[in-house]
Amino acid sequence: MNGIIPTIQLETNLTSMLNASELEKIATQDYRQMSAYLIGQISERDLLDTEEQNIFHIEIQREITVQPLIAKKLVIVLKATRLCNLRCTYCHSWAEGPNQTMSFEIMAIIIHKILSIPNIKRFEFVWHGGEVTLLKPLFFQKLIWLQQKFKKPEHHITNSMQSNVVNISDDWLSFIKGIGMHVGISLDGVPAIHDSRRVDYRGRGTSQRVALGIEKLKRHNIPFGALIVVDKQVYKTDHRKMLDYFIKIGLNNIEFLNIVPDNRIPSGDKIDSSYITYADFISFLTQIFIIWWNEYRTKIVIPQFSDFIHAIKFPGTQLAACYWSENCSQEVITIEPNGNVSPCDKYVGDANSQYGSLLKNDLANLLANSRHNQTARREEQDVFNKMRQCRWFYLCQGGCPHDRVINRRHVVGYQDDCCGTGKLLAVIAEFLDKEQNTVLS
Ligand code: SF4
Ligand code: SF4
Repeated sequence: MNGIIPTIQLETNLTSMLNASELEKIATQDYRQMSAYLIGQISERDLLDTEEQNIFHIEIQREITVQPLIAKKLVIVLKATRLCNLRCTYCHSWAEGPNQTMSFEIMAIIIHKILSIPNIKRFEFVWHGGEVTLLKPLFFQKLIWLQQKFKKPEHHITNSMQSNVVNISDDWLSFIKGIGMHVGISLDGVPAIHDSRRVDYRGRGTSQRVALGIEKLKRHNIPFGALIVVDKQVYKTDHRKMLDYFIKIGLNNIEFLNIVPDNRIPSGDKIDSSYITYADFISFLTQIFIIWWNEYRTKIVIPQFSDFIHAIKFPGTQLAACYWSENCSQEVITIEPNGNVSPCDKYVGDANSQYGSLLKNDLANLLANSRHNQTARREEQDVFNKMRQCRWFYLCQGGCPHDRVINRRHVVGYQDDCCGTGKLLAVIAEFLDKEQNTVLS
């Protein structure tokens, strides 16, 4: 918390009433809540232009009735903008031209509707793009301000962001630090792989600029981690070289995500050559786990592993990632700049995966009337009957439903009685047992 600067960044007189050295002692979670609260205290005249003030007055006076969700929390992946400074070779997310960024009016309507859902108390907003740092921090200051205006006392709201951190500005660094936010970075492994696909609009690789972005985050003492997409190339990389590279650039918190095939390819048709099956992904994670456990566990944090270790040691622990939540079809949504809602990004391109506009309907209705969402819900309900006999079901809950659908569609001989994660969990348990026995002997 060194050098936290809410008094400068939050531009509110209230902060001058707080002692800066006291602020540094506040726990991260409390600090984030407090900084959001302080943003909510900024007067509308100091934050909004005249048109935005009018929009806000209309929205705050609008009485709306919203149906409850079949969920305990809601994760909102907010595609604040589709504009992007990169042109990653596999990406269909970026867009150019007008109307690619969420307007203040749409933002106000969405925040109002989301925070009016009667039975949800926890809301996790993920700022996503395109590239969110192409927008000014003021955009997100207004977003937090709106959250504070529409939140109820029992609500717990979190914000995090996903960025390529290429060209992250000083203004952004100060803002992120000011609000105490965690940054998720997108990275595709070692430079030889990353630079062949995560390229800018001139086709130049970006690994050096990502490393520079990481250096800046570290210099500002901003918490961050990276998401590494695992395809065939990453799968085949020398794992030690990859982990050494992450350590070299100061990246010591990573998660792995398996690549998504083109969702439009039907069963039996040829699939993209970079795709790896879920079984291969689990085999990759297992190899990484063994190396990590023996050589890297004091140098690099891999929450996927530490969460499983904790949950095996302390049964009943709730795992954080969506994959093991059993109800993501009701708990995770993506919102486009125009207010349209869809499931998580893994379903991009899947038939009927657009739920409709949140501007014209409420979320519970959109989910209930979507054939795609109802199929996903049935899939989640069925999994219990199909997989409950598995020793590891209490932990994995059948894993990611998208992976199950893709396995069934493309993997010859796929059995519906195990999602595949059990093989990794068995290895983790074996290593924990060995350690326990060594301690006891
Ligand atoms: S940075 Fe993200 S949104 Fe931009 S092109 Fe790459 S994957 Fe797509
Ligand atoms: S489909 Fe998979 S990746 Fe998407 S929210 Fe559900 S568990 Fe997470």
